[in-house]
Amino acid sequence: MQIRCYRCNWNFAIKRDEIAFVLEALEESGGNHYDVPCPRCRTTNKISIEQMRRAVPRPPSEVEVEEEVKEHEEEKVEGESEEEKGED
Ligand SMILES: [Zn+2]
Repeated sequence: MQIRCYRCNWNFAIKRDEIAFVLEALEESGGNHYDVPCPRCRTTNKISIEQMRRAVPRPPSEVEVEEEVKEHEEEKVEGESEEEKGED
C-alpha cells in the first residue's frame, strides 16, 4: 500500500502483511486509524481503517469443500486352493 506523507509528500509503502496485522489489531481494540510514521520526516500519518481494508482485500469467507472421490475398489478374494500332492 502506497502512503504519501501529508507533510513532505514523501511516498513510501507499507507491506500487506503489516496492514493485515494492523487491521486485526485495530478491529480488536476498536480503533479506526493507523499511525504511520513517515520514514523521511517522522511525521505521523493517519491511515484510516477503510483505506487499509481497500488495500488488503479479504479472501471470501466461503470455504471450498473438496469432494472426496472414493474409488470403489472391489477386492477380489480368491480362495486359495491348496492341492495336496499325495506322495507315493
Ligand atoms: Zn514525511
